Amino acid sequence: MKAKKSVFGVFCLIVAFVGLKVEDHIIDTEPAIREVPTSRKVVALTFDDGPLNTSTPKILQILREKGVKATFFVVGERVEKYPMLVRQEAAEGHEVGNHTYSHPKLRGLNRQEIDKEIEKNETLISQVAPRPTLFRPPEGKYSKTVLEDARERGYIIVLWSIDTKDWRCPPVGDIVDSVLKNVKPGSIILLHDGKYPSPTPEAVDCIIDSLKSRGYEFVTVSELLQYYQPASR
Ligand SMILES: [Zn+2]
Repeated sequence: MKAKKSVFGVFCLIVAFVGLKVEDHIIDTEPAIREVPTSRKVVALTFDDGPLNTSTPKILQILREKGVKATFFVVGERVEKYPMLVRQEAAEGHEVGNHTYSHPKLRGLNRQEIDKEIEKNETLISQVAPRPTLFRPPEGKYSKTVLEDARERGYIIVLWSIDTKDWRCPPVGDIVDSVLKNVKPGSIILLHDGKYPSPTPEAVDCIIDSLKSRGYEFVTVSELLQYYQPASR
C-alpha cells in the first residue's frame, strides 16, 4: 500500500513538472496562444462576452448533456450582474478566463487603466470561481503593455485559431461549417454567449456531435496546453 502511494506521488510530481515545462515553453516562444500544436485529436470550445442569463444557461445545458468541458472568457460587468452563472460554470467543470471588466479597446488605455480592467474582473471572478490564469483581450487585440501587465499578473494570453463569427448571427449551418472546414488537433474555437437571441447554442450542439463523430475530444484551454508538442528540430 505504501509503495503504491509513493509511486502515485512520483507520478503526480512528474505530471506537475512536465505541465509546468510545457507552459513555460509556450510562454517563452508565443506572445499569445492561438492554437496548440499536437497530434492528439483535442480541441477547446471558448465562449466570450458572457455571462448572460439567456444564452449562457442554454449553452451550459448543452455542454452538460454532451459531457463536454469548455472555457468561458467572462466580462466583469456581467459577472457582477450574474455571479451565479459564473459559479455554475466553474462548478460544472468549465474553465473561467478573464476578458476584462468593461470590454474596452485595450490599445487605447495606459498601463494603469489596463491593469484596473484586468484586476477588477479577476477579483469578481475569484469570488465565485478559481482565480483565472487565462486572459483574452477584447477583439483579440493587445499591445506590448497589455502583454506585460497580463504576464506580470500571471496570465497566459489566449486568442483563437477558428473564428466562427457567431456574434453576427449567421445561419447555424455557417457557424458549424466554419468549424468543420478548419478544425485540426489543437484548435481553439471562438464562440460567444454574450448575445441573445443567438444561433450559437444550436450550432454548439451540432459542432459537438460532428467533431465527436470525427474522433475529437473537448477540453478546457488549460488542459489543451498540456497536449503541446514542440515541433521536432
Ligand atoms: Zn469580447
